[in-house]
Amino acid sequence: MASLKAKKPHVLAVPFPAQGHVTPLTKLSRRIADRGIKVTFVNIHNIHSKILESTFVSSENQDHNTNNIVLTSIPDGLSSEDDRNDVFKLIESLRGTMADSLTDLIGRINRENVEEPVSCIIADITVGWVLEIAEKMGAEPIVFTPASAAGLALVLHIPELVEGRNLDVNGTVVTKPETISLSSNIPAWGKDELSWSFPVDLGMQKILFECSLDAVKTGNQAKSILCNTFYDLESTACDLNSRLLPIGPLLNPSHSKSSSNYSGSFRTQDESCLAWLNSKPAASVIYVSFGSIAVFSQQQLDELALGLELSGRPFLWIVRSDIANGARAEYPTGFLERIGCGIGKIVEWAPQEKVLSHSSVACFLTHCGWNSTMEGVSMGVPFLCWPYFADQFHNQNYVCDKWKIGLRICADENGIRSRYEIKNKIQMVTGDVDLRSNALKMKELALKSSGSEEGSSLKNFEKFVDHLKKL
Ligand code: UDP
Repeated sequence: MASLKAKKPHVLAVPFPAQGHVTPLTKLSRRIADRGIKVTFVNIHNIHSKILESTFVSSENQDHNTNNIVLTSIPDGLSSEDDRNDVFKLIESLRGTMADSLTDLIGRINRENVEEPVSCIIADITVGWVLEIAEKMGAEPIVFTPASAAGLALVLHIPELVEGRNLDVNGTVVTKPETISLSSNIPAWGKDELSWSFPVDLGMQKILFECSLDAVKTGNQAKSILCNTFYDLESTACDLNSRLLPIGPLLNPSHSKSSSNYSGSFRTQDESCLAWLNSKPAASVIYVSFGSIAVFSQQQLDELALGLELSGRPFLWIVRSDIANGARAEYPTGFLERIGCGIGKIVEWAPQEKVLSHSSVACFLTHCGWNSTMEGVSMGVPFLCWPYFADQFHNQNYVCDKWKIGLRICADENGIRSRYEIKNKIQMVTGDVDLRSNALKMKELALKSSGSEEGSSLKNFEKFVDHLKKL
Protein backbone atom coordinates (compact mmCIF):
# COMPACT_ATOMS: atom_id res chain seq x y z
CA MET A 1 0.00 0.00 0.00
CA ALA A 2 2.81 2.39 0.94
CA SER A 3 4.39 2.00 -2.50
CA LEU A 4 1.03 2.62 -4.17
CA LYS A 5 0.79 5.97 -2.38
CA ALA A 6 4.00 7.08 -4.08
CA LYS A 7 2.46 6.56 -7.51
CA LYS A 8 1.12 9.47 -9.48
CA PRO A 9 -2.58 9.75 -10.33
CA HIS A 10 -3.56 8.91 -13.90
CA VAL A 11 -7.06 9.38 -15.32
CA LEU A 12 -8.43 7.45 -18.28
CA ALA A 13 -11.23 9.47 -19.92
CA VAL A 14 -13.73 7.55 -22.07
CA PRO A 15 -16.38 9.52 -23.98
CA PHE A 16 -19.33 8.29 -26.03
CA PRO A 17 -18.27 8.77 -29.68
CA ALA A 18 -20.29 11.88 -30.56
CA GLN A 19 -19.18 15.52 -30.68
CA GLY A 20 -21.52 16.64 -27.89
CA HIS A 21 -19.99 14.03 -25.59
CA VAL A 22 -16.32 14.29 -26.61
CA THR A 23 -16.22 18.10 -26.31
CA PRO A 24 -17.21 18.47 -22.63
CA LEU A 25 -15.09 15.50 -21.52
CA THR A 26 -12.16 17.09 -23.38
CA LYS A 27 -12.71 20.33 -21.50
CA LEU A 28 -12.88 18.46 -18.20
CA SER A 29 -9.72 16.52 -19.10
CA ARG A 30 -7.85 19.73 -19.91
CA ARG A 31 -8.80 21.18 -16.54
CA ILE A 32 -7.64 18.03 -14.76
CA ALA A 33 -4.42 17.99 -16.78
CA ASP A 34 -3.81 21.64 -15.95
CA ARG A 35 -3.80 20.60 -12.28
CA GLY A 36 -0.82 18.37 -12.96
CA ILE A 37 -2.67 15.07 -13.34
CA LYS A 38 -1.98 12.91 -16.36
CA VAL A 39 -5.01 12.08 -18.52
CA THR A 40 -5.20 9.46 -21.24
CA PHE A 41 -8.13 10.33 -23.51
CA VAL A 42 -9.51 7.33 -25.38
CA ASN A 43 -11.54 7.71 -28.56
CA ILE A 44 -12.50 5.04 -31.07
CA HIS A 45 -10.13 5.00 -34.05
CA ASN A 46 -12.19 6.97 -36.61
CA ILE A 47 -13.07 9.74 -34.15
CA HIS A 48 -9.42 9.89 -33.02
CA SER A 49 -8.33 10.35 -36.65
CA LYS A 50 -10.91 13.08 -37.26
CA ILE A 51 -9.74 15.00 -34.18
CA LEU A 52 -6.08 14.70 -35.14
CA GLU A 53 -6.82 15.82 -38.68
CA SER A 54 -8.87 18.81 -37.62
CA THR A 55 -6.62 19.90 -34.77
CA PHE A 56 -3.10 19.13 -35.84
CA VAL A 57 -3.54 19.46 -39.57
CA SER A 58 -1.32 22.49 -39.96
CA SER A 59 0.91 21.72 -37.03
CA GLU A 60 4.52 20.78 -37.64
CA ASN A 61 4.54 19.10 -34.29
CA GLN A 62 2.79 15.81 -34.92
CA ASP A 63 3.25 14.72 -31.31
CA HIS A 64 -0.31 14.20 -30.15
CA ASN A 65 0.65 14.10 -26.53
CA THR A 66 -0.45 17.52 -25.43
CA ASN A 67 0.91 18.58 -22.09
CA ASN A 68 -0.33 15.96 -19.60
CA ILE A 69 -2.97 14.64 -22.01
CA VAL A 70 -2.24 11.60 -24.15
CA LEU A 71 -4.67 11.07 -27.02
CA THR A 72 -5.13 7.45 -27.91
CA SER A 73 -7.68 5.16 -29.53
CA ILE A 74 -9.26 1.72 -29.51
CA PRO A 75 -11.17 -0.16 -32.23
CA ASP A 76 -14.96 0.20 -32.40
CA GLY A 77 -15.37 -3.50 -33.14
CA LEU A 78 -16.98 -2.92 -36.54
CA SER A 79 -15.53 -4.30 -39.78
CA SER A 80 -14.30 -2.05 -42.57
CA GLU A 81 -17.52 -2.74 -44.56
CA ASP A 82 -19.82 -1.73 -41.69
CA ASP A 83 -21.64 1.61 -41.82
CA ARG A 84 -20.21 3.69 -38.99
CA ASN A 85 -23.19 6.05 -39.18
CA ASP A 86 -25.50 3.21 -38.13
CA VAL A 87 -25.80 4.20 -34.48
CA PHE A 88 -27.58 0.99 -33.53
CA LYS A 89 -24.76 -1.17 -34.91
CA LEU A 90 -22.11 1.06 -33.40
CA ILE A 91 -23.60 0.96 -29.91
CA GLU A 92 -24.11 -2.82 -30.08
CA SER A 93 -20.54 -3.25 -31.19
CA LEU A 94 -19.14 -0.95 -28.49
CA ARG A 95 -21.17 -2.74 -25.85
CA GLY A 96 -19.64 -6.05 -26.94
CA THR A 97 -16.02 -4.98 -27.41
CA MET A 98 -15.16 -1.79 -25.54
CA ALA A 99 -14.54 -3.32 -22.12
CA ASP A 100 -12.02 -5.81 -23.54
CA SER A 101 -10.26 -3.16 -25.64
CA LEU A 102 -9.96 -0.91 -22.61
CA THR A 103 -8.73 -3.75 -20.41
CA ASP A 104 -5.95 -4.40 -22.93
CA LEU A 105 -5.16 -0.70 -23.17
CA ILE A 106 -4.98 -0.24 -19.40
CA GLY A 107 -2.88 -3.38 -19.05
CA ARG A 108 -0.41 -1.96 -21.58
CA ILE A 109 -0.38 1.50 -19.98
CA ASN A 110 0.22 0.02 -16.54
CA ARG A 111 3.10 -2.14 -17.76
CA GLU A 112 4.73 0.78 -19.56
CA ASN A 113 4.10 3.38 -16.80
CA VAL A 114 4.75 1.63 -13.50
CA GLU A 115 4.93 4.96 -11.72
CA GLU A 116 1.69 6.19 -13.29
CA PRO A 117 -0.77 3.29 -13.57
CA VAL A 118 -4.36 4.20 -14.39
CA SER A 119 -5.90 5.13 -11.04
CA CYS A 120 -9.29 6.45 -12.20
CA ILE A 121 -11.61 5.90 -15.17
CA ILE A 122 -14.01 8.72 -15.99
CA ALA A 123 -16.61 7.35 -18.38
CA ASP A 124 -19.49 9.09 -20.08
CA ILE A 125 -22.76 7.80 -18.62
CA THR A 126 -23.76 6.51 -22.09
CA VAL A 127 -20.84 4.06 -22.03
CA GLY A 128 -21.07 3.60 -18.27
CA TRP A 129 -20.89 -0.17 -18.67
CA VAL A 130 -17.12 0.14 -19.25
CA LEU A 131 -16.80 1.06 -15.59
CA GLU A 132 -17.31 -2.61 -14.74
CA ILE A 133 -13.64 -3.10 -15.56
CA ALA A 134 -12.45 -0.32 -13.25
CA GLU A 135 -12.33 -2.35 -10.06
CA LYS A 136 -10.65 -5.27 -11.82
CA MET A 137 -7.98 -2.88 -13.09
CA GLY A 138 -7.49 -1.22 -9.69
CA ALA A 139 -9.02 2.10 -10.78
CA GLU A 140 -11.71 4.31 -9.30
CA PRO A 141 -14.89 4.44 -11.46
CA ILE A 142 -16.34 7.92 -12.03
CA VAL A 143 -19.36 8.78 -14.14
CA PHE A 144 -19.64 11.92 -16.26
CA THR A 145 -22.87 13.22 -17.74
CA PRO A 146 -22.70 15.81 -20.53
CA ALA A 147 -26.40 16.72 -20.18
CA SER A 148 -28.31 18.76 -17.61
CA ALA A 149 -28.94 17.72 -14.01
CA ALA A 150 -32.65 17.74 -14.85
CA GLY A 151 -32.02 15.38 -17.77
CA LEU A 152 -30.19 13.01 -15.46
CA ALA A 153 -32.99 13.21 -12.89
CA LEU A 154 -35.53 12.31 -15.58
CA VAL A 155 -33.47 9.35 -16.79
CA LEU A 156 -33.02 8.04 -13.23
CA HIS A 157 -36.81 8.34 -12.84
CA ILE A 158 -37.46 5.89 -15.72
CA PRO A 159 -38.03 2.83 -13.48
CA GLU A 160 -40.95 4.63 -11.75
CA LEU A 161 -42.35 5.72 -15.12
CA VAL A 162 -42.15 2.17 -16.45
CA GLU A 163 -43.65 0.72 -13.29
CA GLY A 164 -46.49 3.24 -13.46
CA ARG A 165 -47.01 2.19 -17.11
CA ASN A 166 -46.47 5.79 -18.24
CA LEU A 167 -44.11 4.69 -21.04
CA ASP A 168 -44.26 2.03 -23.75
CA VAL A 169 -41.27 -0.02 -24.94
CA ASN A 170 -40.09 2.85 -27.16
CA GLY A 171 -40.13 5.25 -24.23
CA THR A 172 -43.23 7.02 -25.60
CA VAL A 173 -45.56 8.54 -23.03
CA VAL A 174 -48.83 6.59 -23.18
CA THR A 175 -50.79 7.94 -20.20
CA LYS A 176 -52.64 11.20 -19.60
CA PRO A 177 -51.63 13.86 -18.75
CA GLU A 178 -48.89 13.55 -21.31
CA THR A 179 -46.43 15.57 -19.30
CA ILE A 180 -43.91 14.48 -16.70
CA SER A 181 -43.05 16.69 -13.79
CA LEU A 182 -40.38 16.08 -11.15
CA SER A 183 -40.83 19.37 -9.31
CA SER A 184 -42.71 22.62 -9.73
CA ASN A 185 -39.28 24.31 -9.94
CA ILE A 186 -38.20 22.34 -13.00
CA PRO A 187 -40.06 22.84 -16.28
CA ALA A 188 -42.23 19.79 -17.00
CA TRP A 189 -41.40 17.51 -19.91
CA GLY A 190 -43.99 17.35 -22.70
CA LYS A 191 -44.70 14.00 -24.35
CA ASP A 192 -42.09 14.54 -27.09
CA GLU A 193 -39.61 16.41 -24.92
CA LEU A 194 -38.02 13.53 -23.03
CA SER A 195 -34.27 13.01 -23.05
CA TRP A 196 -34.75 10.07 -25.45
CA SER A 197 -37.50 11.65 -27.62
CA PHE A 198 -37.17 11.39 -31.39
CA PRO A 199 -40.78 11.32 -32.56
CA VAL A 200 -39.91 11.47 -36.28
CA ASP A 201 -37.78 8.32 -36.00
CA LEU A 202 -39.13 5.83 -33.47
CA GLY A 203 -36.33 3.38 -34.29
CA MET A 204 -33.80 5.95 -33.17
CA GLN A 205 -35.94 6.82 -30.15
CA LYS A 206 -35.88 3.16 -29.10
CA ILE A 207 -32.07 3.16 -29.29
CA LEU A 208 -31.91 6.35 -27.22
CA PHE A 209 -34.37 4.87 -24.72
CA GLU A 210 -32.26 1.71 -24.38
CA CYS A 211 -29.18 3.87 -23.80
CA SER A 212 -31.16 5.69 -21.11
CA LEU A 213 -32.03 2.36 -19.48
CA ASP A 214 -28.31 1.54 -19.38
CA ALA A 215 -27.69 4.98 -17.90
CA VAL A 216 -30.14 4.20 -15.10
CA LYS A 217 -28.00 1.23 -14.05
CA THR A 218 -24.78 3.23 -14.27
CA GLY A 219 -26.28 6.24 -12.51
CA ASN A 220 -27.60 4.17 -9.64
CA GLN A 221 -24.30 2.36 -9.09
CA ALA A 222 -22.09 5.47 -9.31
CA LYS A 223 -20.57 6.88 -6.14
CA SER A 224 -20.51 10.31 -7.71
CA ILE A 225 -21.58 11.77 -11.03
CA LEU A 226 -19.76 14.74 -12.53
CA CYS A 227 -22.16 17.03 -14.36
CA ASN A 228 -21.58 19.97 -16.72
CA THR A 229 -23.93 22.31 -14.90
CA PHE A 230 -23.79 24.70 -11.94
CA TYR A 231 -25.85 24.83 -8.81
CA ASP A 232 -27.41 28.28 -9.31
CA LEU A 233 -28.59 27.28 -12.76
CA GLU A 234 -30.39 24.10 -11.73
CA SER A 235 -30.49 24.05 -7.94
CA THR A 236 -33.67 21.94 -7.69
CA ALA A 237 -32.46 19.32 -10.15
CA CYS A 238 -29.04 19.23 -8.44
CA ASP A 239 -30.75 18.68 -5.08
CA LEU A 240 -32.61 15.66 -6.49
CA ASN A 241 -29.40 13.66 -6.55
CA SER A 242 -27.02 13.76 -3.59
CA ARG A 243 -24.28 12.04 -5.63
CA LEU A 244 -24.27 14.70 -8.33
CA LEU A 245 -21.18 16.91 -8.49
CA PRO A 246 -21.92 20.03 -10.59
CA ILE A 247 -18.60 21.23 -12.02
CA GLY A 248 -19.78 23.41 -14.91
CA PRO A 249 -19.83 25.38 -16.95
CA LEU A 250 -17.02 23.46 -18.63
CA LEU A 251 -15.33 25.94 -20.94
CA ASN A 252 -12.08 25.91 -22.85
CA PRO A 253 -9.47 27.23 -20.45
CA SER A 254 -8.14 30.54 -21.74
CA HIS A 255 -4.65 30.03 -20.36
CA SER A 256 -4.28 26.30 -20.54
CA LYS A 257 -1.02 24.40 -20.32
CA SER A 258 -2.68 21.39 -21.97
CA SER A 259 -2.28 22.55 -25.59
CA SER A 260 -3.69 25.95 -26.40
CA ASN A 261 -6.20 25.21 -29.13
CA TYR A 262 -7.03 21.58 -28.55
CA SER A 263 -10.83 21.28 -28.31
CA GLY A 264 -11.58 17.71 -29.36
CA SER A 265 -13.37 19.07 -32.42
CA PHE A 266 -14.16 16.56 -35.20
CA ARG A 267 -14.08 19.31 -37.82
CA THR A 268 -11.57 22.06 -38.45
CA GLN A 269 -12.74 25.26 -36.82
CA ASP A 270 -12.78 28.04 -39.38
CA GLU A 271 -11.26 31.04 -37.60
CA SER A 272 -11.97 33.39 -40.51
CA CYS A 273 -15.34 34.15 -38.95
CA LEU A 274 -13.59 35.90 -36.03
CA ALA A 275 -12.06 38.51 -38.35
CA TRP A 276 -15.48 38.90 -40.00
CA LEU A 277 -17.06 39.45 -36.56
CA ASN A 278 -14.43 42.10 -35.83
CA SER A 279 -15.81 44.10 -38.75
CA LYS A 280 -19.36 44.20 -37.34
CA PRO A 281 -20.87 46.62 -34.83
CA ALA A 282 -21.30 45.58 -31.19
CA ALA A 283 -24.29 43.31 -30.46
CA SER A 284 -25.41 43.20 -34.10
CA VAL A 285 -24.79 39.65 -35.36
CA ILE A 286 -27.15 36.66 -35.24
CA TYR A 287 -25.06 33.52 -34.65
CA VAL A 288 -26.82 30.46 -36.07
CA SER A 289 -25.66 26.95 -35.22
CA PHE A 290 -27.40 23.62 -34.78
CA GLY A 291 -24.52 21.55 -33.38
CA SER A 292 -23.16 18.39 -34.91
CA ILE A 293 -26.22 16.20 -35.55
CA ALA A 294 -29.35 18.17 -36.52
CA VAL A 295 -30.38 18.01 -40.18
CA PHE A 296 -33.13 19.79 -42.13
CA SER A 297 -35.16 19.51 -45.32
CA GLN A 298 -34.09 21.76 -48.18
CA GLN A 299 -37.42 23.60 -47.85
CA GLN A 300 -36.64 24.40 -44.20
CA LEU A 301 -33.12 25.56 -45.07
CA ASP A 302 -34.55 27.88 -47.74
CA GLU A 303 -36.92 29.43 -45.18
CA LEU A 304 -34.05 29.89 -42.74
CA ALA A 305 -31.84 31.55 -45.37
CA LEU A 306 -34.64 33.91 -46.41
CA GLY A 307 -35.63 34.63 -42.79
CA LEU A 308 -32.07 35.63 -41.93
CA GLU A 309 -31.95 37.84 -44.99
CA LEU A 310 -35.33 39.42 -44.19
CA SER A 311 -34.16 40.29 -40.67
CA GLY A 312 -31.71 42.77 -42.19
CA ARG A 313 -29.17 41.84 -39.50
CA PRO A 314 -25.66 40.51 -40.10
CA PHE A 315 -25.54 36.77 -39.49
CA LEU A 316 -22.93 34.07 -39.04
CA TRP A 317 -24.42 30.71 -40.04
CA ILE A 318 -22.80 27.31 -39.46
CA VAL A 319 -23.73 25.10 -42.39
CA ARG A 320 -22.21 21.62 -42.06
CA SER A 321 -21.68 19.71 -45.31
CA ASP A 322 -24.34 17.17 -44.24
CA ILE A 323 -26.97 19.60 -42.93
CA ALA A 324 -29.51 19.01 -45.73
CA ASN A 325 -30.60 15.57 -44.50
CA GLY A 326 -27.06 14.28 -44.99
CA ALA A 327 -26.28 16.26 -48.16
CA ARG A 328 -24.89 19.69 -48.92
CA ALA A 329 -27.31 22.59 -48.57
CA GLU A 330 -28.44 24.54 -51.57
CA TYR A 331 -29.33 28.20 -51.26
CA PRO A 332 -32.26 30.20 -52.65
CA THR A 333 -31.58 31.79 -56.04
CA GLY A 334 -29.28 34.79 -55.69
CA PHE A 335 -28.94 34.39 -51.92
CA LEU A 336 -25.17 33.88 -51.85
CA GLU A 337 -24.63 36.82 -54.20
CA ARG A 338 -26.87 39.05 -52.08
CA ILE A 339 -25.16 38.22 -48.80
CA GLY A 340 -21.73 38.36 -50.43
CA CYS A 341 -21.56 42.11 -49.73
CA GLY A 342 -20.79 41.23 -46.10
CA ILE A 343 -24.19 40.93 -44.45
CA GLY A 344 -23.85 37.17 -44.02
CA LYS A 345 -21.00 34.75 -43.40
CA ILE A 346 -21.36 30.99 -43.79
CA VAL A 347 -18.77 28.56 -42.46
CA GLU A 348 -18.80 24.80 -42.02
CA TRP A 349 -17.63 24.82 -38.39
CA ALA A 350 -16.54 27.63 -36.08
CA PRO A 351 -14.67 28.05 -32.79
CA GLN A 352 -18.05 28.38 -31.10
CA GLU A 353 -16.96 29.59 -27.68
CA LYS A 354 -14.84 32.35 -29.23
CA VAL A 355 -17.76 33.34 -31.43
CA LEU A 356 -20.23 33.47 -28.55
CA SER A 357 -17.88 35.58 -26.46
CA HIS A 358 -17.37 38.08 -29.29
CA SER A 359 -18.86 41.50 -28.56
CA SER A 360 -20.48 41.67 -32.02
CA VAL A 361 -22.82 38.76 -31.30
CA ALA A 362 -26.38 39.85 -30.50
CA CYS A 363 -28.07 36.49 -30.11
CA PHE A 364 -27.63 32.76 -30.51
CA LEU A 365 -30.06 30.92 -32.77
CA THR A 366 -29.49 27.38 -31.52
CA HIS A 367 -30.81 23.82 -31.38
CA CYS A 368 -30.26 23.97 -27.59
CA GLY A 369 -27.84 21.06 -27.28
CA TRP A 370 -26.68 21.12 -23.67
CA ASN A 371 -23.10 22.14 -24.54
CA SER A 372 -24.31 24.99 -26.71
CA THR A 373 -26.75 25.98 -23.99
CA MET A 374 -24.02 26.09 -21.34
CA GLU A 375 -21.71 28.01 -23.68
CA GLY A 376 -24.44 30.54 -24.54
CA VAL A 377 -25.36 30.98 -20.86
CA SER A 378 -21.69 31.51 -19.96
CA MET A 379 -21.27 34.20 -22.61
CA GLY A 380 -24.45 36.06 -21.66
CA VAL A 381 -26.14 35.98 -25.06
CA PRO A 382 -29.93 35.81 -25.49
CA PHE A 383 -31.20 32.69 -27.25
CA LEU A 384 -33.51 31.89 -30.12
CA CYS A 385 -34.48 28.26 -29.65
CA TRP A 386 -35.03 25.72 -32.39
CA PRO A 387 -34.65 22.26 -30.82
CA TYR A 388 -34.22 19.15 -32.97
CA PHE A 389 -34.42 16.11 -30.71
CA ALA A 390 -33.98 14.55 -27.26
CA ASP A 391 -33.07 16.82 -24.32
CA GLN A 392 -32.95 19.90 -26.57
CA PHE A 393 -36.70 20.47 -26.02
CA HIS A 394 -36.34 20.54 -22.28
CA ASN A 395 -33.28 22.77 -22.53
CA GLN A 396 -35.45 25.14 -24.57
CA ASN A 397 -38.05 25.13 -21.76
CA TYR A 398 -35.32 26.01 -19.27
CA VAL A 399 -34.10 28.87 -21.50
CA CYS A 400 -37.52 30.37 -22.27
CA ASP A 401 -39.64 29.58 -19.21
CA LYS A 402 -37.27 29.26 -16.27
CA TRP A 403 -34.25 31.42 -16.96
CA LYS A 404 -36.13 33.78 -19.30
CA ILE A 405 -33.15 34.41 -21.55
CA GLY A 406 -34.64 33.45 -24.89
CA LEU A 407 -37.60 32.93 -27.21
CA ARG A 408 -38.89 29.96 -29.18
CA ILE A 409 -38.96 29.89 -32.99
CA CYS A 410 -42.21 28.02 -33.56
CA ALA A 411 -43.12 25.64 -36.36
CA ASP A 412 -46.33 26.10 -38.35
CA GLU A 413 -48.97 23.41 -38.84
CA ASN A 414 -46.73 21.77 -41.48
CA GLY A 415 -43.79 21.58 -39.12
CA ILE A 416 -41.92 24.39 -40.92
CA ARG A 417 -40.40 27.46 -39.27
CA SER A 418 -41.31 30.12 -41.79
CA ARG A 419 -39.05 32.98 -42.89
CA TYR A 420 -41.53 35.44 -41.29
CA GLU A 421 -41.51 33.63 -37.93
CA ILE A 422 -37.69 33.64 -38.05
CA LYS A 423 -37.50 37.33 -38.95
CA ASN A 424 -40.08 38.31 -36.29
CA LYS A 425 -38.36 36.38 -33.52
CA ILE A 426 -34.98 37.87 -34.45
CA GLN A 427 -36.51 41.32 -34.17
CA MET A 428 -38.18 40.47 -30.87
CA VAL A 429 -35.12 38.95 -29.22
CA THR A 430 -32.74 41.70 -30.31
CA GLY A 431 -35.13 44.39 -29.11
CA ASP A 432 -35.85 42.86 -25.71
CA VAL A 433 -33.78 44.50 -22.97
CA ASP A 434 -35.07 42.14 -20.27
CA LEU A 435 -33.83 39.05 -22.09
CA ARG A 436 -30.38 40.59 -22.49
CA SER A 437 -30.25 41.72 -18.90
CA ASN A 438 -31.33 38.26 -17.65
CA ALA A 439 -28.71 36.67 -19.89
CA LEU A 440 -26.00 38.93 -18.46
CA LYS A 441 -27.06 38.05 -14.91
CA MET A 442 -26.88 34.38 -15.79
CA LYS A 443 -23.41 34.88 -17.24
CA GLU A 444 -22.26 36.42 -13.96
CA LEU A 445 -23.59 33.44 -12.00
CA ALA A 446 -21.93 31.02 -14.40
CA LEU A 447 -18.54 32.70 -14.19
CA LYS A 448 -18.76 33.07 -10.42
CA SER A 449 -19.59 29.43 -10.02
CA SER A 450 -16.61 28.08 -11.94
CA GLY A 451 -14.22 31.01 -11.78
CA SER A 452 -14.26 32.44 -8.27
CA GLU A 453 -12.75 30.80 -5.19
CA GLU A 454 -16.14 30.76 -3.51
CA GLY A 455 -17.86 29.35 -6.59
CA SER A 456 -19.70 26.09 -5.99
CA SER A 457 -18.50 24.39 -9.17
CA LEU A 458 -14.89 25.36 -8.56
CA LYS A 459 -15.09 24.03 -5.00
CA ASN A 460 -16.56 20.76 -6.27
CA PHE A 461 -13.84 20.50 -8.88
CA GLU A 462 -11.09 21.17 -6.32
CA LYS A 463 -12.57 18.50 -4.06
CA PHE A 464 -12.57 16.10 -6.97
CA VAL A 465 -8.94 16.89 -7.90
CA ASP A 466 -7.88 16.34 -4.26
CA HIS A 467 -9.63 13.00 -4.34
CA LEU A 468 -7.82 12.04 -7.57
CA LYS A 469 -4.48 12.95 -5.99
CA LYS A 470 -5.16 10.64 -3.06
CA LEU A 471 -6.03 7.58 -5.14
N1 UDP B 1 -19.44 23.48 -31.99
C1 UDP B 1 -18.29 24.02 -32.49
N2 UDP B 1 -18.35 24.67 -33.69
C2 UDP B 1 -19.49 24.82 -34.39
C3 UDP B 1 -20.68 24.28 -33.87
C4 UDP B 1 -20.63 23.62 -32.65
O1 UDP B 1 -17.22 23.93 -31.90
O2 UDP B 1 -19.46 25.42 -35.46
C5 UDP B 1 -19.39 22.78 -30.69
C6 UDP B 1 -20.16 23.54 -29.64
O3 UDP B 1 -19.32 24.55 -29.08
C7 UDP B 1 -20.55 22.44 -28.67
C8 UDP B 1 -20.60 21.20 -29.54
O4 UDP B 1 -20.00 21.53 -30.79
O5 UDP B 1 -19.56 22.30 -27.67
C9 UDP B 1 -22.03 20.75 -29.84
O6 UDP B 1 -22.57 20.17 -28.71
P1 UDP B 1 -24.10 20.35 -28.36
O7 UDP B 1 -24.36 19.57 -27.11
O8 UDP B 1 -24.46 21.77 -28.30
O9 UDP B 1 -24.87 19.74 -29.60
P2 UDP B 1 -24.82 18.34 -30.39
O10 UDP B 1 -23.75 18.46 -31.41
O11 UDP B 1 -24.53 17.26 -29.37
O12 UDP B 1 -26.18 18.22 -31.00
